[in-house]
Amino acid sequence: MEQHSIFTKIINREIPASIVFETDDIIVINDISPKAPVHILIIPKKQIATINDIADEDIPLMGKIIAAAKQVAIQLGIADDGYRLVMNCNDFGGQTVWHLHCHMLGGKKLGWTPD
Ligand code: AMP
Repeated sequence: MEQHSIFTKIINREIPASIVFETDDIIVINDISPKAPVHILIIPKKQIATINDIADEDIPLMGKIIAAAKQVAIQLGIADDGYRLVMNCNDFGGQTVWHLHCHMLGGKKLGWTPD
């Protein structure tokens, strides 16, 4: 059986997290090591390792990630000022957790240089 990711353990309440929003398909948590005043993670409950592993059947779920981002931005009061969504993939993308997720960064005007 596939090993449970740290995010699946959070979804299963096996380890604690600061949960911002949750639906049947998605969980949204505060990042434990924030890189901006607002740094949250939008995570599908289905454990998909990377963007490269998205199957055709997962495409509606990817839309739900964006829909959750929109809703949470309003909830956090950052929608009008703006924010950034980022999905890191594999080594060059800087991915460290092998359970696909989308970062939402905001709360200040962000720079635009990847390193
Ligand atoms: P990535 O590097 O794109 O795979 O992003 C993984 C993110 O997960 C990083 O920003 C980490 O700070 C964050 N992270 C790792 N463990 C936890 C945790 N237990 N709770 C919340 N965020 C976490």
